[in-house]
Amino acid sequence: MGFDYLAITDHDVHVGGAVASHTWADPGFSSPSVLLFYGAELTAARGHINVLCAEPYDHQRIFDARDDRDWNILALKRELGVHMSANHPSTKNHYGYSFDLADSVEIWNGCIWPKNVPGVRIWDDMLKSGRMLGARGGSDAHHGVPDSPEQITPLSIEATANYVGTPTTWIYAAARTKPGILAALEQGRASVSSNPYNPRVELLADVNGDGVMEMMMGDNVKPTGRAVTFEVRLAGGGIAGACYSVRVIKNRDFFGTFTTDATTRSVQFSDVPELGERSYYRVEIEGPQVPYPEVPNSMAQSGNMVALSNPLYFNYNPNF
Ligand SMILES: [Zn+2]
Repeated sequence: MGFDYLAITDHDVHVGGAVASHTWADPGFSSPSVLLFYGAELTAARGHINVLCAEPYDHQRIFDARDDRDWNILALKRELGVHMSANHPSTKNHYGYSFDLADSVEIWNGCIWPKNVPGVRIWDDMLKSGRMLGARGGSDAHHGVPDSPEQITPLSIEATANYVGTPTTWIYAAARTKPGILAALEQGRASVSSNPYNPRVELLADVNGDGVMEMMMGDNVKPTGRAVTFEVRLAGGGIAGACYSVRVIKNRDFFGTFTTDATTRSVQFSDVPELGERSYYRVEIEGPQVPYPEVPNSMAQSGNMVALSNPLYFNYNPNF
């Protein structure tokens, strides 16, 4: 099992914002094969933001502005050219900034699925309000495997349950580059699975009835008034022969439950997106967890939640 990219976002408050001379200066912060983002978790009184960038940037300025008015932070974000991702919107360090700052949002934080339900509701609120906000997961892993017994602390057990890949964010990028990955994440060309051995969910649609699924997650089209065929596919991983439950959400509300075919690992449904109105569709996949041998206690924490998609959009304003 390997990863194409990794974002290490240490809390910046422990170094007073000076991540450039700590995390990024660590000799271990390099890889010949994994794309490593420059970033940090902005840790402020009114919430946490993962700041991500392809290149080093002046994180100190963001840290120093953390309590500023949001419109000033937005101007700074644009000046620095960084991606801001709203972290764990509903935990005790809830995201108390404006979502107009956010290029993406963390809808699945850590291996424990149930605590994320309120955060998904907040994401749905943003989607329903006309925002096309790409979603991702984040492990929030805080504890590595100790190198020696004397380094063990009461929280060391977390490394066996919550680690890199719990959850996993799959991103469909035009290029295997850091700017390509951030652009795809912002657009919502992504889905999240509880661990990298589980299936990756893909949500597609055939809008013009030609039998070709030309629409993928993150896409936004004008409704035609005719029925749209949606297709949910599970790619890779998972348990052979298993059927998975597909819960469809339309415009924040429950739309229906469908079951994937054990052989094709897919299922279709149809609906007519209303003319002249905004609609979005997204899916949640429940079923048997696949073990993650490197992080053996994670599967019990994730329950039956296997994967979440980003939405397909109809009649959204691309210039919102
Ligand atoms: Zn946090």
